[in-house]
Amino acid sequence: MSPPRKLLIAGNLKMNRLPEGALEDDSPYREGSNVDVIAIPTLLDIQSCIDARIITGAQIGQCHNETTGAHTGDISMQMLADSGVRYVLCGHSERREFYGETDEDVAAQAIAALDANIHPIICVGESSKEREAEKHEKVIKRQINVLPLESDITIAYEPIWAIGENALRAATPEEAQTMHSFIRSLLPEDKRESTRILYGGSMKAANAKELLSQPDIDGGLIGGASLQLEEFRGIVQIALALSSGEGEGLST
Ligand code: PEP
Repeated sequence: MSPPRKLLIAGNLKMNRLPEGALEDDSPYREGSNVDVIAIPTLLDIQSCIDARIITGAQIGQCHNETTGAHTGDISMQMLADSGVRYVLCGHSERREFYGETDEDVAAQAIAALDANIHPIICVGESSKEREAEKHEKVIKRQINVLPLESDITIAYEPIWAIGENALRAATPEEAQTMHSFIRSLLPEDKRESTRILYGGSMKAANAKELLSQPDIDGGLIGGASLQLEEFRGIVQIALALSSGEGEGLST
C-alpha cells in the first residue's frame, strides 16, 4: 500500500508582492514537517523566498520552455531551477483565458518543467457554463488526458466559477470530492494513489477543514488568501492539525 499523501498548501500570489511578514521566521510560508507549504510569488520575490528557505514555485508566464536562446523577455525553466525554484504553476485558467494557452501548451510546459527537474502543479477546471451544460467531466478529461501522467506531477482542480474575485462561491466539499475522485480515476494505475490533487477556489480558513478532510483532496492552491498572512496561516494550521490527526478538535 502507498503511504498517505502529504498535504500541500501552495500560495499563488499572482501579480502581487509578498504580504508583509511572509519572509519572517514565524511565516506560515515556512514548511511544516507534516505539511508541504510553498510560495508561488512573482519573479521579483522568488529570490527572497529562496534566500529565506521557503520552498518556491514560479508562475508560467515567467518562464520559457526552451533552455536558452533568442527569446527576449523570457527566462528558462532551467535557469529558474538553477536558482532554486522547485515548482512551477501551469495551466491556470487566467493563462488559458487571457493568453490563449491550450491544453497542448500546458502539457508542453509541464514536460519542460520536468526536464528541468521542476515539479509542475497543473491546473484544470471547468467554467460555469460548462458545468451548467453538464460538460464538466468532459472538459476535465480533455485537460487531463494530454498531460504527462506517467511522471510525478501535481494536479490542481480549480473550477473557474469558484476562483478569484469574481467567484460565484467555493465548491462544496462534496462537489470538490466528486471531481477529485473523478480526476484520480483518470490517472494511470501506478500513479493513482501517489499523485496529489489540490483544490483551488476560494479556500479560506473557514472552509479549509471541510475541504481538506475529503479523501481525494490533498491540499489547496490558495489565491486571495495567500495575500493575507493570518488567513493563510489559518489554512496551514488546519492542514497541520488534520495531518497530525487532530482535526476533530478544530471548529469549522
Ligand atoms: C486561484 O486563482 O488560483 C485561486 C485559487 O484563487 P482564490 O483562492 O482567490 O479563489
